[in-house]
Amino acid sequence: MKKNKRIGFTTSFPVEVVFAAGHFPIDLNNLFLDCDSTQMIHAAELKGFPRTVCGWIKGNYSTALASNLDEVIGITQGDCSNAQSLLDMIAEEGIPVWSFSFPNRRTHEDMDRELRRLEEHYEVDRTDTLKAKARLDEIRRKLLVLDEWTWNQRLVTGKENHLWLVSSSDFNGDPDRFEEELDTFMQEAAKRDPMPAKPRCAFLGVPPIYRDMYDLVRDLGGDVGFNEVQRQFAMPHLAEDIVEQYLLYTYPYTIKERLEDILPQLQQRKVDLVLSYIQSFCHLQIDNILLKKYTGLPFLTLEGDQPEPMDNRALLRLESFFEVHS
Ligand code: SF4
Repeated sequence: MKKNKRIGFTTSFPVEVVFAAGHFPIDLNNLFLDCDSTQMIHAAELKGFPRTVCGWIKGNYSTALASNLDEVIGITQGDCSNAQSLLDMIAEEGIPVWSFSFPNRRTHEDMDRELRRLEEHYEVDRTDTLKAKARLDEIRRKLLVLDEWTWNQRLVTGKENHLWLVSSSDFNGDPDRFEEELDTFMQEAAKRDPMPAKPRCAFLGVPPIYRDMYDLVRDLGGDVGFNEVQRQFAMPHLAEDIVEQYLLYTYPYTIKERLEDILPQLQQRKVDLVLSYIQSFCHLQIDNILLKKYTGLPFLTLEGDQPEPMDNRALLRLESFFEVHS
């Protein structure tokens, strides 16, 4: 099978298989934010995507078409209810597509079956996949140290934590270079003085489309010491078995299962406030109701739509929230 293909994908999935096959996985969400994102959304709307569809979906669509991809993997179960329609639209443009589903039943048997289907597609076996996983785990171990330096030693800001962890969905397509850059960053961070932050915030929900949220939180005197979903992208459990790893990964599963990870982390990291981000027109807004109910801390929901700075209304709400709870 030809190697070095550019494989786009719509959210974290067992990327080890793609690396094992000698290809470059590309997280379309990360690429979208690096492009002229407003133009990408506009281009999708010109193709007929409605205004009332989430900006990430429109961004992923246009980014997929503009990125010289050999294939796109859509995560059609365990992420987004729009993923299958997105995949159909991408296929319509002549780009080969493949779907990966996080099984409804969170069992070893079902996850193993889905992983094997992916391995067959890329003509790799489990030994190849585990070899790729071992290499990625070396980097993930360092990311877990970086995460601890964020909430415990306070050497890393919430924004830096977000950027490094969110990038671990695809290691920017090149794990060796990623690790080199991470090592350089951590050598610098190790020399810093601890950064006091009060209040200490948790950030829950999908990564924000706002470009300046973390900076605004710092301007208000606080910082984010827990990026829930981004931390999950870094596979914090480091399970030896790859099937187990993707069963422990909480993002694709129910809100109650996510809370089993969130609640102890809020406690351990001594979080004062919760910021929860929801995307306009996203079905996960419904999950946010239960997140708010069960976290038991002051909770602010921020809703974003376009990739732009936070709008005045949301900014005012953020400022008031800090005023009341600081
Ligand atoms: S924000 Fe919601 S609707 Fe948009 S891509 Fe993510 S899961 Fe789908």
